[in-house]
Amino acid sequence: MVKALGKNWHPECFQCHKCHKVLSPDNFMEKSGKPYCKEDYHKLFSPKCSECNLPIEGTPLVAMGRQWHPNCFKCFQCGVPLSPNNFKEHDGKPYCNKHFQEMFLPKCYGCKLPIADKVLKALGKTWHPECFACVQCHKPLGTDGYREKDGLPYCDFDYHALFSPKCAACHAPIREVYSLHDTLSIHLLITEMSDSYGQDMASRALPVPTLQQTVE
Ligand SMILES: [Zn+2]
Ligand SMILES: [Zn+2]
Ligand SMILES: [Zn+2]
Ligand SMILES: [Zn+2]
Ligand SMILES: [Zn+2]
Ligand SMILES: [Zn+2]
Repeated sequence: MVKALGKNWHPECFQCHKCHKVLSPDNFMEKSGKPYCKEDYHKLFSPKCSECNLPIEGTPLVAMGRQWHPNCFKCFQCGVPLSPNNFKEHDGKPYCNKHFQEMFLPKCYGCKLPIADKVLKALGKTWHPECFACVQCHKPLGTDGYREKDGLPYCDFDYHALFSPKCAACHAPIREVYSLHDTLSIHLLITEMSDSYGQDMASRALPVPTLQQTVE
């Protein structure tokens, strides 16, 4: 006779409620007063892993509102095991920080690396604010205006030094060309105004890039 679950049984009648395999009284699981073999118990009553769909016998890892085998909660791209406190989610799938950044964040056109925080948009591209710099002198252009030549940003000074026509008299670049006929006199005029509002107006006219926060 078998004594189990507070009752008496024929040894051959103490069976798994599901598969009717004969159970040993010291190796079975119980649910609602009925005996089960371990396998069926977990199949029927244990939480299922969100990744492999098999029952979780130990403590489930809970992340993204679902339950996982601790070993099954891994980066969807590289398979590295993840901690529920340190991962990124995209489209219902978990990723390590590295692959989330590589795959889903905008890339900086300057350094080619992902942009996690502030995005600067200029010239139809995205940049780290510190990477949007004059091609010539590497001064960041995030707060000042910039000039564009062949899709690349330049500070006002270098743009004119490189691309503006040079004065026949002093060889300094001529900042604004109003007329092909009388560039020398225009140059003199601009130079005279350089300390007053003329300079101010010129810099205010430059396009200023827009800063944005990337959405998490
Ligand atoms: Zn069974
Ligand atoms: Zn699993
Ligand atoms: Zn990864
Ligand atoms: Zn960059
Ligand atoms: Zn420059
Ligand atoms: Zn000159």
